Amino acid sequence: MRCVPETALEIIPMGAGAAFAQPDQAQSSYLVRAGDSAAVLDMGAGTFNRLLGEMDPVDLDVVVISHLHPDHLADLLALRVYMAHGPGLGHPLEVHGPPGLEERLDVIAGGENWAGVTFRDLQAGEGTLLAGDLVISHTEVPHLPPTHALRVDHGGRSITYGADCAPNDALPELARGTDVLLLECSWGIGDLVPGVPHLNAAAAGEMARRAEARRLVLVHGYPDVDKDAAVAEAQAVFGGPVEWAREGQPVHA
Ligand SMILES: [Zn+2]
Repeated sequence: MRCVPETALEIIPMGAGAAFAQPDQAQSSYLVRAGDSAAVLDMGAGTFNRLLGEMDPVDLDVVVISHLHPDHLADLLALRVYMAHGPGLGHPLEVHGPPGLEERLDVIAGGENWAGVTFRDLQAGEGTLLAGDLVISHTEVPHLPPTHALRVDHGGRSITYGADCAPNDALPELARGTDVLLLECSWGIGDLVPGVPHLNAAAAGEMARRAEARRLVLVHGYPDVDKDAAVAEAQAVFGGPVEWAREGQPVHA
């Protein structure tokens, strides 16, 4: 039985793995919803089927893609087939993402009729878009340029997703006072890797501390990451509650 209001803001990880996932794990994708409003943030491989298990994609208000790495967008190929030639026919859907997203998909899928999905470029730097009753704010963070961290606000609550990123100042500003902060933890308790823009547990904890987030949820850990050690390290720096995302398990804002 649900013990939260039907309209409460929640995020359900469809996939919370890294660039190669695991037998019980998919790549990056997060369903955010409140009441009748729903948005998907990223759509990596193995996540469109998970989305179908949660809801009919025709009822989505928007899909937002943080950046053009394939583990954050691969299942858009399946989504386009569903919307143009499957049950989504006649239910237009907007996908917002970095410029060049549609062309990248066309290289793989070909340029036939994919009319069910309309692509919109995310404004450079920062911006805001509306998805039903959800307000989605985005700002660029250091990773594959451009990469956008995404914040979803609804009813005085918020969830912020850091996408992939190196430590930076923009993310704590976007995430200021957020209820749930999802941050990648690619390296666990390992060192940051110069020139490879990702976070480790200490850096994720520091981002959460600076943002004054209420709760930190770690995602995008590689298989060799010691998850318990990463939680302990992030928690020591952050000072608030830390956990790893569990696919299919909602986190309430
Ligand atoms: Zn990436």
